[in-house]
Amino acid sequence: MATAADVAAIRATQRDLVTLALAELAQWWQEFTASLTGDVPVSQIETVTAELVERYGDAAAVAAADWYDELREAAGAPGRFRAVMADPAPPEQAAAVARWAADPLFAAEPDQDAALRHLAGGVQRLVLQPARETIANSVDRDPADARWARVPSGATTCAFCRLLASRGAVYHSEETAGGLANSYHSKCDCVPTPIWPGESEPYDVDALLEEYTAARAQAGGDLKAILAQMRKDLGIN
Ligand SMILES: [Zn+2]
Repeated sequence: MATAADVAAIRATQRDLVTLALAELAQWWQEFTASLTGDVPVSQIETVTAELVERYGDAAAVAAADWYDELREAAGAPGRFRAVMADPAPPEQAAAVARWAADPLFAAEPDQDAALRHLAGGVQRLVLQPARETIANSVDRDPADARWARVPSGATTCAFCRLLASRGAVYHSEETAGGLANSYHSKCDCVPTPIWPGESEPYDVDALLEEYTAARAQAGGDLKAILAQMRKDLGIN
């Protein structure tokens, strides 16, 4: 069964990969912005973003696949199966994030720091995307009826993630179709974690469910209202 230590271990690997990607990004950004004269060559930002997201995303997917296989073996899940590695975020997706992040460079008073902040948030999310997809895709194809849970990690977890985590290990393709389960915001450090029949989640699902139920009792059935109530109740984002 995935333990809190297992989740912490993959989280540390992911954090290291993101740290390396963002250090490369910051170094390039310094040179890029120092050399700017006149027009901003946005295509260069797109290219660098796509390259970082591919290289570090690939490493994140490999780590996630290994982690899945180890957890599966430890769970004693029946049948032969190996994790299905997801592809890195496609270059077009990385380029779209780069263009969006570059917006503050075109403001009346260009803000390079804001652009880098946005870009770093996007790179973090896209580096982790194939790792998260590796878990979700593998759960879907695993013959042993696996599910995944959004396991919170880090000091604080936002209301959106707490709500999804409060459902426990329910997620698989039918459950997530058309839903929000596969959405991750920038800087999210939640870890989708595979769980096999008979196992329990490596975090306190009941406590999160109580938060959610209390907020829902106050706010009614509307998702946005429930999230707003949770933010108010818990003093979080
Ligand atoms: Zn999260």
